[in-house]
Amino acid sequence: MNMVIVGGVAAGMSAAARLRRLDEQAEIIVLERDRYVSFANCGLPYHISGDIPDREQLLVATPEHLRATLNLTVRTRHEVVGIDREAKQVQVLDRASGTQYVQPYDKLLLAQGAEPIRPPTPGLEHPRILTLRSIPDMDAVKAAADGAHSAVVIGASYIGLEVAEALRKRGLAVDLVELQEQVIPLFDREMTGALHEHLSEQGVTLHLGTAAAAFHDDSGRVVVELRDGTNITTDLVLLAVGVRPASGLAKAAGLALGPRGGVAVDRHLRTSDPNIYAAGDMIEVIDTITGEPAVIALAGPANRQGRIVADHVCGRDAAYTTTQGTAIVQVFDMTAASTGASEKTLRRTGRSFRKIYVHPNDHAGYYPGAVPMHIKLLFSPDDGRVLGAQIVGTAGVDKRIDVLATAIRAGMTVFDLERLELAYAPPYGSAKDPINMAGFVAANLMRGDVVFWYAEEYPGRAQGATVIDVRNADEYADGHLPTAVNIPLPELRARFAEVAQLAEQGPVLLYCMVGFRSYVAYRILRQRGVEQVATLAGGMKTFIGLHGPAVAR
Ligand code: FAD
Repeated sequence: MNMVIVGGVAAGMSAAARLRRLDEQAEIIVLERDRYVSFANCGLPYHISGDIPDREQLLVATPEHLRATLNLTVRTRHEVVGIDREAKQVQVLDRASGTQYVQPYDKLLLAQGAEPIRPPTPGLEHPRILTLRSIPDMDAVKAAADGAHSAVVIGASYIGLEVAEALRKRGLAVDLVELQEQVIPLFDREMTGALHEHLSEQGVTLHLGTAAAAFHDDSGRVVVELRDGTNITTDLVLLAVGVRPASGLAKAAGLALGPRGGVAVDRHLRTSDPNIYAAGDMIEVIDTITGEPAVIALAGPANRQGRIVADHVCGRDAAYTTTQGTAIVQVFDMTAASTGASEKTLRRTGRSFRKIYVHPNDHAGYYPGAVPMHIKLLFSPDDGRVLGAQIVGTAGVDKRIDVLATAIRAGMTVFDLERLELAYAPPYGSAKDPINMAGFVAANLMRGDVVFWYAEEYPGRAQGATVIDVRNADEYADGHLPTAVNIPLPELRARFAEVAQLAEQGPVLLYCMVGFRSYVAYRILRQRGVEQVATLAGGMKTFIGLHGPAVAR
């Protein structure tokens, strides 16, 4: 059996290595158009920043090493330019010699990844406008950054954020431009407020809700003209506005594509031609939560898919299920992570949901260094099944998002989160772990023990309502919602008659800083007979994340 693999990085190399471990006799040929195979693309920004000082660290394996250890035939600088499905052979361009040849296959795997999107913008061909996908791209960004004073990064999703940080660490002034009104457009808006603040503190100038309209040359530098009228003259532009599946070759060969432009595959990752598999960023997967086709460019799914292809080629009943999009990004001293569906996605797909916010410390508050994280949890109103989560913080985010990712994969509910027994000692967590806390609050909502009002309902829902700030007088004095009266929680019972009178005039909306004190206040008022009362989900922390700090005066 001969298997030809097009693309020698995540999915392609996972498939090749697994196939060899299962079949010592197979002829395995990896064709890679670049000079490098099996390199750490996720590590590229960290070499630019200097966090990974040694470039060689990114080159996980060389063709010689792969020949010696796995008996793979790896041909770098060999680009597949056509597929003849009838003859079961691919047309290959040897980029070193410029010659072409045909390579027959029994089974073919397309693992070509994705291509950076280059939106049709005037002046885009300027030589100092770069993208980051490969080792040569990284070398070019590093070379351009050497001696540069400033850079503009366009696109504030994962790669854009990582490169913005890398360039700041190299001492460049960085402007970050994002079409949406927030960084990480996949996140819900209110979860990104703390990231905006942190990026500004780190010296990144944010341009949100705008985009590059045109680029001009200015004596070798680039003038970036933004739609909002701002002009930025810079030494270097990094374009990171997303990727699209590299499905052109498959399309030209008549393979079926899915509605999102990726290659359509069955559960065994076979394309519409059963002798051709496809895996990684170039395929369409099924979204775990929405059940819709999706293109999701992540290394974990790509690696696992490569492995499944090898298993299936060897006659095993291996199948890929769905992708839930678990992702994490470092933003200077902060971390942002998500798994499953966002609220935006649930709304777009018309799926009903409920949501809660909590802001627990990463570990016991009495142990030095405890820092809060912001957790948003989305779940089904029917049975409490976890649908998605986003977490932003400075410590402990990675651990919690992975628990929630596992919960989603296992089909767990918020009631399961209440019951989870997670590792605890003061330096690491709390006896009530942040995950348990999220479970408690979500389960309270499911059981009717609490009614929330939400930041996005402001100011509408506050009109005609009594808004009560239950924080201490000094916190209230530092800034509060304009119509709020201050009844600190410790005074609430003594001043209940006052509240009861206010409650006769209409609904009572409570709030505090993170949502805990106002929840306690909610329980007091409900048990004393106040019917129309709600507490602000996530407190002022979430509220400010959505509306900004200016709204609390
Ligand atoms: P790739 O790994 O991109 O490999 C595709 C290969 O196919 C390329 O080397 C390409 O040259 C080759 N190829 C394409 N066409 C041909 C052809 N016609 N002939 C021969 N060869 C061809 N994901 C995460 O989960 N976490 C991260 O932190 C993360 N960070 C990232 C940072 C950066 C800067 C980048 C660029 C990506 C990052 N990703 C991250 C995404 C992750 O790298 C991809 O999801 C993953 O590599 C996809 O694997 P793949 O095998 O589909 O494609």
